[in-house]
Amino acid sequence: MIRVRFAPSPTGHLHVGGLRTALFNWYFAKKNNGKFILRIEDTDMERSKKEYEDAIFEEMKWVGLDYDEGVDKPGEYGPYRQSERLDIYKGYIDQLLNEEKAYFSVTKSDEIIFEGNNLPDKYKKNNEYSVVVKFKVDKDQKISFLDEIRGTIQFDMSHINDFVILRSNGIPVYNFTVVIDDYLMKISHVIRGEDHISNTPKQILIYNALSFELPKFAHLPLILGEDKSPLSKRHGEVSITYFRKEGYLPKAILNYLSLLGWNANEQIFDYIKKYQEFDLKKVSKNPSIFDYTKLLWTNEVHLRNDSIEEVHKSFNEWAKYTNVKIDNEDSFVKKIIEVSRAKVQTLKQLYEFSKNFFVKEFEYEEEFIEKYMKKPWFKEVIEITIRKLSEIDEYDLANVENTLKEIADLNITGRKNVFQTIRGSLLGRLVTPGLYESIIILGKNESIKRLKRALE
Ligand code: GLU
Repeated sequence: MIRVRFAPSPTGHLHVGGLRTALFNWYFAKKNNGKFILRIEDTDMERSKKEYEDAIFEEMKWVGLDYDEGVDKPGEYGPYRQSERLDIYKGYIDQLLNEEKAYFSVTKSDEIIFEGNNLPDKYKKNNEYSVVVKFKVDKDQKISFLDEIRGTIQFDMSHINDFVILRSNGIPVYNFTVVIDDYLMKISHVIRGEDHISNTPKQILIYNALSFELPKFAHLPLILGEDKSPLSKRHGEVSITYFRKEGYLPKAILNYLSLLGWNANEQIFDYIKKYQEFDLKKVSKNPSIFDYTKLLWTNEVHLRNDSIEEVHKSFNEWAKYTNVKIDNEDSFVKKIIEVSRAKVQTLKQLYEFSKNFFVKEFEYEEEFIEKYMKKPWFKEVIEITIRKLSEIDEYDLANVENTLKEIADLNITGRKNVFQTIRGSLLGRLVTPGLYESIIILGKNESIKRLKRALE
């Protein structure tokens, strides 16, 4: 049985690197009919926060990466939050101590004053001393493992010192807990970022010491910024929250992240339909550059081509998330999306662009006021438009188009002036979706109401 996990530490918001790791694990699980587990690694008690943990669950839900087991999805191998597994870890620490594969190390003012397997009582629960448990490293060995992406990797242990596995506060370290959990949760493949490759030999030592069978390892290539240094905040925004607020579609984000390391043979796809093709063998060893422009382009293409239903759903989610109030009927909103989406790159831009469909008491753009509203012919154009638009019953493209052309042909002013006058009166701005389409979407009553308002 293939079992993989995504094991974030809730010390910050989910970022693009973490989500790429989650996605590749998800692909691998799906492809192999396996299970995908979400484990919370919160043993860094000071930096871990519940709000980050909640945000991780929420964002995983938002992007649509569903997992089979996790803190909020009970399974056979829980608990799935490391802070609830301390007793389990303690058992294995004791085992290593008993087998003399680990030892207590006591320091006082940074000086080692005791090392050994049986901790004398005087050091216990005494604030003067700092007591940790260290893992004993046999420096004469070489550790090698076959990375599914990078091939055989060998480490010379002569540079590795005995290392702490249990901190003085009684909490074990990541390199220890990860081994216990991956083993007990029956993880078959550890797929994670290349930044963890240097941790792998230490983890293998612990697997060996406890006679646990090794999982397979696959280290995903680094994600770099434009300047080829590891992607970080210095390069720009990296948190998923940011892209969500900006109005990126989850599908576009996952599409783009798929390409960071995976040669997927095409640039635009629906990740849900793509997992069949996923193969760790096709994942590159070389780092990928995070290209904000390409992500934006990917978003634009999805915005244009995904089904209206999907874009509408994402648009509603975006509005809710950013506290934008939209209380119009779904069918109205969908029509607006339809006529606007080819002109924008994000849901936020879509909203900005089409805002005045939703907002009735909008303000008129300065340029519109100056160039059109203040002109002597303005009133006449609007009055005639009100009259003519009142006379049509069926608001379809042919009727609206013919009517507007008739008005333009009256030569009250130039054609462009006529169209811009009507456009600005209806929507407050000079760049909008197609004028005929806009009138049809607004409908007779609303169009006439808005034209009347422009005369006030
Ligand atoms: N908690 C670790 C991290 O967030 C997970 C590393 C791993 O996958 O082993 O980086």
